[in-house]
Amino acid sequence: MQTRICRLHGQNDIRIETEEVPDPGNEEALVAIAFGGICGSDLHYYQDGGFGSIRVREPIILGHEAAGTVLKIGAGVTNIAEGDRVAINPSRPCNHCKYCLEGLFTHCLEMRFNGSAMRFPHEQGLFRERIVVSATQCLPLDPQVSLSEAACSEPLAVCLHARRMAGDLAGKRVLVTGAGPIGVLCAALAAEASASEVVVTDLQDFPLKVADEMGATRVVNVAQDPDAMSEYAADKGYFDVVFECTAAPPAIRSAIEALRPQGKFVQVGVTGDVPLPLNLLVSKEITYQGTQRFHEEFSEAVQMITARNIDLRPIISANYPLDDAVAAFSAAADRRRAVKVHLAFADAV
Ligand code: ZN
Repeated sequence: MQTRICRLHGQNDIRIETEEVPDPGNEEALVAIAFGGICGSDLHYYQDGGFGSIRVREPIILGHEAAGTVLKIGAGVTNIAEGDRVAINPSRPCNHCKYCLEGLFTHCLEMRFNGSAMRFPHEQGLFRERIVVSATQCLPLDPQVSLSEAACSEPLAVCLHARRMAGDLAGKRVLVTGAGPIGVLCAALAAEASASEVVVTDLQDFPLKVADEMGATRVVNVAQDPDAMSEYAADKGYFDVVFECTAAPPAIRSAIEALRPQGKFVQVGVTGDVPLPLNLLVSKEITYQGTQRFHEEFSEAVQMITARNIDLRPIISANYPLDDAVAAFSAAADRRRAVKVHLAFADAV
């Protein structure tokens, strides 16, 4: 069987190509992908050829946010059946390295993560009409969940892990910098965790409107209102917790200024080296907490989406057919009109 795929050959060079799909082997499943979400890392690979020290060094099929329908299962598969609609977990820790044995699966030394150029050869991604994956990567969905919502399981899992790193948010004042998909989902999860205030900043009105729909108590356009954050910096700061989702030095600085003494600064956004106001981190006794990816949070995300504990539909701004992948990437990069953009494959329903 042939399948069509979305492959990046280098900077600004996406090609829709055809590839042979094998039959599913033992413990594997053949899945018809319905929707694939374009993530910031996909955009960095496409626009910049990578981010930080991670570079695209060979052609790579992009994508790590996807959901679809099981077409065929291999021998020994018991967790899913043909016809099941599933979210696909792109994360495959090895389960036997020293970190996996400690339960630190996100730090697996042999992590294989779909659509990632971190390892070489690169781990190929999910932007293809048909794919054979390990059956354990497939989490079955309830019938009422749309496959486009289910394709948001991965970013929601990232934010659930970030929320876990932040600790209890009940009654806390929370600042989220950046209203991209990760920022608005962090805001939604802070609201869901009974934060008393959830303030979201961005440079564009469109994503801030989405943040508002997702549960922000106030949104601030810091491009139009550059002084708005200074009131929060008075008396050594206002917020208990920051989710920093931009990795932009001015946003990091103003967020640290707005954080109370002994507050928690959760760094979600990622880039190369950036300057930090170390004097403020030290003198305000701030905990600077990194967070990356997820493990058990993927199934939690699927459960939340299934139960509509969180309604993801406002974040999905548009979808484009596979043939229009270049337009889809352009739309995803245009923060004036998009938060999350999906590729819709032939079996999108
Ligand atoms: Zn491992």
